[in-house]
Amino acid sequence: MLRSMIACMLLFSLTAFGNTNSLAGKRIVTLGVRNESNTFSTAHTKLSDFKVRRGNEVLQTETWDEVCAAAGVQVIPVLHAYAWPGGVVEKKAFDQFMQEILAGIRKAGKIDGIYMDMHGALHAEGYADAQATLIKEIRKIVGSKVLISGSFDLHGNLSADFVDNINILSAYRTAPHRDEVETRQRAVNMLLEAMDKQLNPVIETVTIPILVPGEKSITEIEPLKSIYAQLPGLCTQEGIMDASIFAGYCWADLSRSAMRVFVVARSSAYQQQARKAAAILAQQIWNARASMQLNVPSGSFPEMFTKALNDKAGTVFISDSGDNTTAGAPGDNTQVLDHLLKQTTELKVLLAGMVDPEAFKACMAKQKNDEITLTLGGRIDYKFSKPVTIKGRIVFQSPQSEIDKKRGAVLLNIEGVSVVILNDRRSFTQLIDFKDIGLNPMDFKVVIVKLGYLFPELADIAPLSLMALTAGFCNLDIPNLPYKQVTRPAYPLDPDMVWKID
Ligand SMILES: [Zn+2]
Repeated sequence: MLRSMIACMLLFSLTAFGNTNSLAGKRIVTLGVRNESNTFSTAHTKLSDFKVRRGNEVLQTETWDEVCAAAGVQVIPVLHAYAWPGGVVEKKAFDQFMQEILAGIRKAGKIDGIYMDMHGALHAEGYADAQATLIKEIRKIVGSKVLISGSFDLHGNLSADFVDNINILSAYRTAPHRDEVETRQRAVNMLLEAMDKQLNPVIETVTIPILVPGEKSITEIEPLKSIYAQLPGLCTQEGIMDASIFAGYCWADLSRSAMRVFVVARSSAYQQQARKAAAILAQQIWNARASMQLNVPSGSFPEMFTKALNDKAGTVFISDSGDNTTAGAPGDNTQVLDHLLKQTTELKVLLAGMVDPEAFKACMAKQKNDEITLTLGGRIDYKFSKPVTIKGRIVFQSPQSEIDKKRGAVLLNIEGVSVVILNDRRSFTQLIDFKDIGLNPMDFKVVIVKLGYLFPELADIAPLSLMALTAGFCNLDIPNLPYKQVTRPAYPLDPDMVWKID
């Protein structure tokens, strides 16, 4: 399936270029530092949280380079670093990545283009805008003529400073994300096309002062479904290379946090057309701001839990949305656990999972079927929860996972509730995450996950999904978050504000 998709893309890409011979022998550098950084979290994203790929390791796990190879373009992979969404990136980690990237670019010598694989919502301590610093430092080395293209998560917050230094960009068009591969390919294709045809693209941006959580900006439902659906058609217009809508990332208290529309024109001749297209999309989004709402029933955890137990349809997934580990929360908030331990039910309930390396270690020191008493959670998210003392029986132990050696898990049965204890911060987004610890979520009546919206694989199989509006670092109560830096006025913090496109 993936191979045939790549073959189709390859064919499409090559026909999109004019004289492919002009690309033969060209050289591009690729790099990336990806993170979604939650500025409300008490934890930092550390160097050890990043998965780093260098040299051929980068190309072995990507597919877009096949198009480059077919066109005779040499790809020089510099560092690609990625960390699961978390707190602000520690300065030491970002500095190290940036220095390695800059050294790699210097070492690469004469190059014709750069492809940046980014998220867009990275924030590092000690920097007002680390992403802008990175691209400006790159420009100091390569100058203004070398084309830079980037792919982004639509949850990125790109500053004007950053965009001023990039020539081409494209973002995912689906949330939940289903088009990561296509987006990267699109960004690379556009870079190759611009190199091939010697284009000088221009990016038009409209910033829309809206702070919206991912759970209210799903692209599969209205109002955003029909707005995002306009993007592919827009890109077929003469003079328009690409169009993106960034929903932005609202758990970052930064002046650049907002929604944005970007339209890439092939040249300044089409700039006005791009500006107009961006303005139309931005106005549609602004007009739809009040109708961006959750697509599943929501309420307090006790309300959602009662609803789930009374449901007759089958397995019910409940998102502990305040502790959404896919949006940077730590995954050790104990509000849900605390409530579960005060309830009694004959039905099977699974909490997947609680991140607590200390508790994990204590469980691993015991044997399967042993009883254990320990304090669990509330160590990182001590603002909205506190450690809970539990007594349970160990029913599964795994020092490491087949997926990733760092991933260890223990399953405890605590008064009839199954609780997964994890030694590292991760999320249950796919069936394999459950299978990895010998579980099938569909065997349970209620499955509580530390997510916001369910990721595609779970969303596709869940008979019913509910959103628990819990307090935490990814609290969905946006108007009441303690923002200090975001640009005001902004909707919904200033609900009656008036906004006009400049
Ligand atoms: Zn995202």
